Amino acid sequence: DTIGDNLDRTATAQPDVEALVEVPTARRWTYAQLREDVDVVAMGLMRAGLGKGDRVGIWAPNMAEWTLVQYATAKIGAILVNINPAYRTHELEYVLNQAGIRMLVSAEKFKTSDYVGMIEKVRGSCPALEQVVIIGGPEWEALVESGRGGDREELARLQAALSPDDPINIQYTSGTTGFPKGATLSHHNILNNGYFVGRLCGYTAEDRVCIPVPFYHCFGMVMGNLGCTTNGSTMVIPAQGFDPEATLRAVAQERCTSLYGVPTMFIAELNHPDFASYDLSSLRTGIMAGSPCPVEVMKQVVDRMGMTEVTICYGMTETSPVSTQTRADDSVERRVSTVGRVHPHVEVKVVDPETGLTVPRGQAGELCTRGYSVMLGYWEQPDKTAESIDAARWMHTGDLAVMDSDGYLNITGRIKDMVIRGGENVYPREIEEFLYTHPDVLDAQVIGVPDIKYGEELCAWVKLRDGVEGLTAEQVREFATGKLAHYKIPRYVIVVDEFPMTVTGKVRKVEMREKSVELLD
Ligand code: ATP
Ligand code: MG
Repeated sequence: DTIGDNLDRTATAQPDVEALVEVPTARRWTYAQLREDVDVVAMGLMRAGLGKGDRVGIWAPNMAEWTLVQYATAKIGAILVNINPAYRTHELEYVLNQAGIRMLVSAEKFKTSDYVGMIEKVRGSCPALEQVVIIGGPEWEALVESGRGGDREELARLQAALSPDDPINIQYTSGTTGFPKGATLSHHNILNNGYFVGRLCGYTAEDRVCIPVPFYHCFGMVMGNLGCTTNGSTMVIPAQGFDPEATLRAVAQERCTSLYGVPTMFIAELNHPDFASYDLSSLRTGIMAGSPCPVEVMKQVVDRMGMTEVTICYGMTETSPVSTQTRADDSVERRVSTVGRVHPHVEVKVVDPETGLTVPRGQAGELCTRGYSVMLGYWEQPDKTAESIDAARWMHTGDLAVMDSDGYLNITGRIKDMVIRGGENVYPREIEEFLYTHPDVLDAQVIGVPDIKYGEELCAWVKLRDGVEGLTAEQVREFATGKLAHYKIPRYVIVVDEFPMTVTGKVRKVEMREKSVELLD
């Protein structure tokens, strides 16, 4: 099946089940209505001259039209290019040109982003860009109008001629460790991954999934949207961007059974002053992914949010994204301390990054994955593709992992984030978990900063709990002495209100390293 075939199949099997709810506007679609609107947009795209292999960019926050465009492009075999809603002109221009985007679908405005103004600024320098469609604007109305008069048989013919292995989507990575790279993915890649992620959450037509994570990222569009439509569940959009209160409200109002987020989102929801006033009793499961989750947060997600079957997923954009996931019947202990075990039809191994040989269980090394989920490649960057996918099709993730004797994996950090202090390897994750046990600390991140004597020194950035005045390196040393080996105790402590973040909610340690050097100078 292609993504379009699969949507049709779900819509035929359960036309009256709710497919999509946009909470802020109270708009709702059943599967039959979703299929109809997707077909209309698909025919509108066809009549605008787009077809198989053409790149259609989408640059907008989470909204129902995002989902319509996602499925409509898949129906006609156009390649959807997800553009980060936080991008500014420089990055926008890069993506438009790098992917050769012919049509850009965007929104008028979102928070401080004036999309229309930014598009006007770069349009002249993007020769491939022929059409700009602003959702809600006259071009969007015209596209939908022309789609209504479209030729359904022609759409069906076009859809039938597609192959599941065609490229269908270019997704840029989060840009946590550098400039984002465009992973090129097929129907087969993301349709199957969405399906298996949903299966392991036990989704049925009864499930209502709250998706506060961005659609532009695989967490939203694959694990969220495709996870729902392949399993017949309902997609619930709480707000355009992440807003902890809107998320809690959506779960309560829509009786959601599942909630997604990265750890920082769950932390914001759990610490919201009105947390207790929302009835979250409908929650059963959910997904926590994207970065390591402090044990304490995971416990609260289970105990205070009632997400007793919450699963942890590990993955990366390049692998569609999920490679490992905990299972609903895993012990809470497993779910707080591992990222689960390998997904169906995927292989994983942990290797010594120097020799490439598989290391014994229990020993750290680079995680490699292989299977249907590995991307086709980075869009028009064969050199970068060759650096990460080897001749045997193993994807080298750049993540450090340990596999236990039952096959459960623990991600211990990124190779690039590992700190080498005086010849000792220090895993920031371990120190972050430790700092988290300090009563004044709300959140902590640890990085390496250059040091003449030791090569690198540990620097901790901490967010403090409300009402706490400050925290010095001296106080941290006192707290850590006797509990941590001396070389693991951070030499520097910087108190901040926020960490530099990607839109997907990940801490940008590259930026922290640069800023620390300035701050400590
Ligand atoms: P870039 O590749 O541009 O630097 P990125 O790697 O953050 O950014 P993504 O593809 O969005 O881009 O994220 C994948 C990475 O996120 C993984 O390689 C891993 O480092 C991290 N990650 C994902 N899930 C988990 C998890 N459950 N626990 C720990 N880390 C995770
Ligand atoms: Mg990456």
